[in-house]
Amino acid sequence: VLEQEHSKLQTETTRDVLTSAYNRRHFEKRLNEEFTACSERNFGWPLSLIFIDLDKFKEVNDSHGHQAGDAILKTVADLLQETTRDTDIVSRYGGDEFVLLLPGVDTAQVNSVANRICAIARTRKANIAQGKQVGITLSLGVATCDAENQFESAQALLAAADSALYNSKRSGRDRYTLYKAAAA
Ligand code: GH3
Ligand code: MG
Repeated sequence: VLEQEHSKLQTETTRDVLTSAYNRRHFEKRLNEEFTACSERNFGWPLSLIFIDLDKFKEVNDSHGHQAGDAILKTVADLLQETTRDTDIVSRYGGDEFVLLLPGVDTAQVNSVANRICAIARTRKANIAQGKQVGITLSLGVATCDAENQFESAQALLAAADSALYNSKRSGRDRYTLYKAAAA
């Protein structure tokens, strides 16, 4: 029983209560660990990161209510969990932002994961009150740290994915953008 209690406490400190995805604190810890593993192997072991933000989510809250918004957040978390492998780390970064950490996943692989997430989100509906359903699209920013694209720190990799996400938003939403370092 004590062991169960301990594992429950552990869960509460690492998981987001609404979506059951990992929370930001756990994500940052895992990001730092995985970045260290990647850099210690001279970037021969790739590390990919996908930043995800719900499109026009405020409008959904405004027109359907906060509870409907919560149902959508849960649906998105489930979708991300289904679309990724057990070794990938799915976290709610905050508000309507999620982040995926994909250890050992290279550019080609993360490209196809991002494509799949956008495509599934387009067809997925969340059940809100009285049999009503609403859909949502997602904008993604993708960055990979590997031998060709080395990053100085975990924070720099995160910032790269974030800036790619910004490009997805700016160019029309409902899409993913791969981060490209500016040519020297
Ligand atoms: P954009 O496409 O530019 O991302 O537009 P947006 O409306 O999604 O962006 P914005 O950042 O303005 O709005 C995010 C919204 O997410 C605002 C807030 O009401 C909502 N939100 C954040 N956390 C929660 C939550 O836990 N539950 C619900 N229902 N809504 C949340
Ligand atoms: Mg948003």
